[in-house]
Amino acid sequence: MTRLILATRNAGKITELRAILAEAGLSHELVGADAFPDVPDVKETGVTFAANALLKAHALAQATGLPAVADDSGLCVDVLGGAPGIFSARWAGRHGDDRANLDLLLAQLSDIADEHRGAYFACAAALALPDGTERVVEGQLPGILRHVPAGTNGFGYDPVLQPEGETRTCAELSPEEKNAISHRGKAFRALVPVVRELLG
Ligand code: IMP
Repeated sequence: MTRLILATRNAGKITELRAILAEAGLSHELVGADAFPDVPDVKETGVTFAANALLKAHALAQATGLPAVADDSGLCVDVLGGAPGIFSARWAGRHGDDRANLDLLLAQLSDIADEHRGAYFACAAALALPDGTERVVEGQLPGILRHVPAGTNGFGYDPVLQPEGETRTCAELSPEEKNAISHRGKAFRALVPVVRELLG
């Protein structure tokens, strides 16, 4: 059985990709980066989601000798020309301060009317092999930004993005409902034919 490594220490992401591979009938064993604790984290120096996903996947494939998957994601706001984009996790200055990031974004958009509040979550998922072969795929979750956060599920900007065709925000969806439509779910599902092509 081929072993695949996913560049994350987030158990939720591992479970999600494992389920997607299993649903597709692929029997590859998926392990997280925790299986190789000595492998250092990679600096995300790319300027696109795809570039950062590829950087992380290549570094992990080189360090472990295993085919490696990595993802990179963020929120892209139409009226901000795609920002925060790759800066989503540190929009307010401190990496991972979800509440400050969300408050800053809402303040920046306070005068923007509903019809101009389009935005989408984007995710790039990359597969890299130890021999340097690479593929990258993308998924998006389009919607509009609420003026006031709602819901307690999820993380990051979930309380303000209301997906197209929904009356609830991402933070009001169950994890299963979110995974079924999410940018990450779409990108991971788009990886299935790639895994089949490169790893059999
Ligand atoms: P990462 O690629 O998982 O590190 O995500 C980067 C940042 O994008 C996160 O810190 C969040 O601010 C934002 N983000 C990415 N995906 C989501 C999502 O599904 N919901 C809410 N925020 C997200």
